[in-house]
Amino acid sequence: MSHKTFNVDLFNFITSSPTSYHCVDRLSKLYKEAGFTHLKENTVWNLKAGTGYYVKRDNGAIIAFTTSPGYPEVNDSSSVCFLGAHTDSPSLKIKPAPFSYTAGLGKLGVEVYGGPILATWFDRNLAIAGRINYIDTQNHFHTVLYNSSTPIVYIPSLAIHLDRSKNNDNHINAQTHLPLLLLQKSSDNEFNFNEWLLDELKKKDLSPAEVLSHDLFCYDPLPPQYIGKDEEFFNAHRLDNLASCFAGAKALIDAAEQRRACFFICNDHEEIGSTSLSGADGSFAMDVFSRVYPIPEDRQRIKYNSLMISMDNAHATHPNYADRSDDNHFIELNKGVVIKTNSKLRYATNSVTSGFFKLTCKQADVPFQEFVMRSDLPCGSTIGPVTSALFGIKTVDVGIPSLAMHSIRELTGSLDVFHLYKAILHFVSRT
Ligand SMILES: [Zn+2]
Repeated sequence: MSHKTFNVDLFNFITSSPTSYHCVDRLSKLYKEAGFTHLKENTVWNLKAGTGYYVKRDNGAIIAFTTSPGYPEVNDSSSVCFLGAHTDSPSLKIKPAPFSYTAGLGKLGVEVYGGPILATWFDRNLAIAGRINYIDTQNHFHTVLYNSSTPIVYIPSLAIHLDRSKNNDNHINAQTHLPLLLLQKSSDNEFNFNEWLLDELKKKDLSPAEVLSHDLFCYDPLPPQYIGKDEEFFNAHRLDNLASCFAGAKALIDAAEQRRACFFICNDHEEIGSTSLSGADGSFAMDVFSRVYPIPEDRQRIKYNSLMISMDNAHATHPNYADRSDDNHFIELNKGVVIKTNSKLRYATNSVTSGFFKLTCKQADVPFQEFVMRSDLPCGSTIGPVTSALFGIKTVDVGIPSLAMHSIRELTGSLDVFHLYKAILHFVSRT
């Protein structure tokens, strides 16, 4: 398979995953098509050897796992290939009662979700997606995914003539500058946002009586696009961290025939600190792992032998801001998977897990690079440290090199996600 063939499926995955909920929905369809069995947390599980399963929580997190041919037997060398990624990305979240008028224009108020580069959300055609909770005519409660798919809202910039300092000091007030332009006021009737959502759901062959609540985000509906003289790069929305979700899921599916014990955790809410029902700093992963291996001693023996590869995007060196990178650790697009280290353990990598990942890459014939932050700049983090600490498992933090992290469109090399996939495929299929 070429990287271009791989990227066709990657681009489709990114396009159909505008929110964490849609990402989980898409992943569950991929697992189902590959023969994995859907498990619900409220049912009894009768797990079999050499089989694939997946479990979802709160629409935003999903764990897929495969059992070994010898399951449930555990011996001194039993191990599980752990993988981790996150399903959410920085965004603008629509408020519970968002609608208001100013100067004849109807707007939707938003909260900032995570740490987006806010300036990149202006002057874009934005779509709306997320989940909506409603009752039907029998007062039955339903939760449904929603995606406008086409652009529907917009944040126009203030003209340069009205703020001459804009190019020097583009201060953005989230309360007053970010409300989304939705409509022009008309004389016939007052607009009600929940009633508008009700009409949107009716168009989708549902029979809602009343919309109760929602988690709706805006996003850039433009599909991923190649750029560069020879299509060396591509840009996309939510590349952080859909790239890792897709690379991990495809590797798990493609290696499923080998039936090694694997465990791929995709958590929600990494961008806002991970403490939640479906976040990495929550109970989901351990709840599921404890049901797959109910005997505490078995779990501890497995964890001792196991390694987690925590996948999240890394910073490539920006050609116009190269002074923001450590001189000896320049990271190049298309030049390999990035291993991330930090002395304060903002990344969970240590020398042992880094060495193991390098060996994996060598065996898979995949290049790798090493990232460390400049010593005079603070370092970001990932789900790696919290998962490693909660789970008690050796972890390496890796990811694709990317530019413009947390912009509405992020950029990576055309080879980069394919490189990550090949390394992960080797990790989950080695014997
Ligand atoms: Zn991330």
